Amino acid sequence: MTIKLALVGLGKIARDQHLPAIAETEGLELAAIASRHDRHPDLPSFTGLHDLLAAQAVEAVTLCTPPQGRYALAKSALAAGKHVMLEKPPGATVAEVTALAARARKAGLTLFATWHSREAAGVEAAREWLATRRIRDIRIIWKEDVRQWHPGQEWIWQPGGLGVFDPGINALSIATHILPAPLMVTAADLSFPANRDAPIAAHVVMEMDGIPAIAQFDWRQTGRQTWDIEVATDGGTLRLSHGGSRLHLDGEERVAEPDREYRRLYARFADLIRRGESDVDLAPLQLVADAFLLGRRRQAEAFVE
Ligand code: NAP
Repeated sequence: MTIKLALVGLGKIARDQHLPAIAETEGLELAAIASRHDRHPDLPSFTGLHDLLAAQAVEAVTLCTPPQGRYALAKSALAAGKHVMLEKPPGATVAEVTALAARARKAGLTLFATWHSREAAGVEAAREWLATRRIRDIRIIWKEDVRQWHPGQEWIWQPGGLGVFDPGINALSIATHILPAPLMVTAADLSFPANRDAPIAAHVVMEMDGIPAIAQFDWRQTGRQTWDIEVATDGGTLRLSHGGSRLHLDGEERVAEPDREYRRLYARFADLIRRGESDVDLAPLQLVADAFLLGRRRQAEAFVE
């Protein structure tokens, strides 16, 4: 049976990834979109979710809006009996997403809090390799140019937009998936531009069962961009680079596949709906929340786009 789907928030990620991935997923049909300012050339388009739900018979809704305000949309969709897929981060607070998971459970609906980076080509092999080794040290270096990747995105600098943790949470979603025990934040240094309400850089100190872990997130990187995780073990060093799509084990490349992250997410969403299950893992969002709780705040140079 084909699952009819609506998509809310026709921005960068919706156009770059969601539209092509939905089109290629068997058993899913995009029936309508809602976006305040944009229309889809070939599909019924609405300015809000409520109008869409009143006019279109869909079974599921994907939310590609910014994290602030996502809770209200997800709550409405669940109240209308729709399965819901959330872009990352799944909400602006941990409590919001916990409440959504409880609502979905009570209503017998699927809630899927996606972490697209966990679907990158090297991630599962990295998890398997680490499961049989003793870990000594974990280093996450995630440095990119905010002007290149987030042009004009005001929401990302506002409270709840996460600032540099918007890409940084992707690294944490991989780390929390491949490591055999939970990570805990013990200290953090957050650099806020003088004119912004979200950090442009963060240094996060963590531990996993006493094993040291650090994450360096920086949005001021020009030139080569870095999205790497390195794990030193008693049986060699693991290096996941390019956001998890390349895996090197002791210098030897093991995985190099084309990007299928969003195809995998939609296949999983369809599968979860058919099975009547949800998938909501809050560990990456919890680590970001804890970095904000423990973080020492520093003032950085004003950011002007
Ligand atoms: P975006 O380009 O700014 O698009 C967001 C869309 O949501 C806008 O087109 C906007 O459409 C709608 N929207 C609803 N309420 C909004 C508000 N208060 N402020 C701004 N837009 C609002 O953002 P995006 O890059 O697609 O990111 C959306 C989500 O996907 C974020 O959670 C982000 O972390 C995640 N994501 C992004 C990327 C990426 O590479 N960009 C990758 C993976 C995940 P209307 O104004 O027409 O309603």
